[in-house]
Amino acid sequence: MVTKEQLPISKEFLREGDIGLPQQSELEVMRHYKDLSDKNFCVETGMYPLGSCTMKYNPKVNELMAGLEGFANLHPFSSDEDSQGALELMYKLQEALKVLTGMDAVSLQPAAGAHGEFSGMLVIKKYFEVKGEARTKVIVPDSAHGTNPASASMAGFEIVQVKSNERGQVDIDDLKSLLASQGSDIAAIMMTNPNTVGIFEEQVLEISDLMHKNGSLLYYDGANLNAVMGYSNPAIMGFDVCHINLHKTFSTPHGGGGPGAGPIGVVEKLKDYLPSPVIEKQGEKFVRNYNLPNSIGKVRSFYGNFGVLVRAYTYILMMGNDLKHATEDAVLNANYIREKLKNVYDIAYDERCMHEFVICGEKQKEQGSSTLHIAKRLMDYKIHPPTVYFPLIVHEAIMVEPTESESKERLDDFINVMLKIAEEIKQNPEVVNSAPHTAPIKKVDETLAARKPDLSYKK
Ligand SMILES: *Cc1c(COP(=O)(O)O)cnc(C)c1O
Repeated sequence: MVTKEQLPISKEFLREGDIGLPQQSELEVMRHYKDLSDKNFCVETGMYPLGSCTMKYNPKVNELMAGLEGFANLHPFSSDEDSQGALELMYKLQEALKVLTGMDAVSLQPAAGAHGEFSGMLVIKKYFEVKGEARTKVIVPDSAHGTNPASASMAGFEIVQVKSNERGQVDIDDLKSLLASQGSDIAAIMMTNPNTVGIFEEQVLEISDLMHKNGSLLYYDGANLNAVMGYSNPAIMGFDVCHINLHKTFSTPHGGGGPGAGPIGVVEKLKDYLPSPVIEKQGEKFVRNYNLPNSIGKVRSFYGNFGVLVRAYTYILMMGNDLKHATEDAVLNANYIREKLKNVYDIAYDERCMHEFVICGEKQKEQGSSTLHIAKRLMDYKIHPPTVYFPLIVHEAIMVEPTESESKERLDDFINVMLKIAEEIKQNPEVVNSAPHTAPIKKVDETLAARKPDLSYKK
């Protein structure tokens, strides 16, 4: 036996005494973790209508496929020859995403939506560099997801904000005046369509025209493709670059920091700028191509989050032509809830929405309960709070996205709970304001809870 003295470890690092770990039997440890897991909320617990985040159900067959030994245990340094199955899957996923987005080429590398945006912005930047044009600015609507201006800024662009009009859409006159005054500086516009208030940008073709005439490009934030999938796509709308959140639209688990996947698609003229490698088919063989002439390089180790790619591809194959029905149900469910709530809650931009809509909670705030309180009260009814205080252009915003997964019974339950809470606010806002009453943890520090989580096992 090796004695402490013989170990090649400096004395100061050697343990002197008991480190004080709790001593418990296996059974007690199992009960502890089961107890903890019961405190968790997930989409299998109840409705999770987190606007913009698309917390839909993730079919378990996806997990089964991702766990197959040939996929899960394949070494990332395996040669093309030894990785044909994995490369074929990636190639076919690229092809499927080309069809769904209308784009001419796809790279699967980016690890999430924001990472896709960043990669797309680098593509746009390099495109203008190679062209010899010094375009330094990117236009972003004031309703945009926060990652949009952040990604463009990280890629070195200056952000120019374009206003929304009274219908929640890009204000064309404002856009025209920006192009008139700063046109030669503008590299691109970043848009989400439907936008973050759940409204379809009806003037998207005119916007595309204006931007292209100005020599600029259009970037499409396709995080929430379940609003248009099978009905429209970024290419038809006139976009040049887009990202897709596989972990939202294509049902792979997300939240708590990942993993995700945010592939990007581009039109023909930007093909050579994609992050490499892209997967190509040469004869009967699938190969990794690292030789794209103007590639922005690698943006992720190896080939992206492969496990997520397997899950997303499984979902696409399982759904087949029904992908279109997912879109129909996502849009129908959101409109059903909106119609049923609109007499009690004020809806921001109250017209037919796409996959989500935004409530303005000012009326309820005047009656004594803010949006935060309503969100907390929902937890008592076993419903995950929706996205709140976003988008920033709506006061006291509550952003509801039921997704296509939910049954009519669940939607009705959500509607009834929301109506009940509105009534509670009228009768006695204190019941709402002191919620949650049943959750294992009550009100946490809104800022510090996520940044300095208390993970101690001690009570
Ligand atoms: C979720 C989302 C993003 C960011 O995606 P991540 O994977 O979280 O980085 C960007 N835009 C929109 C509209 C989104 O909903």
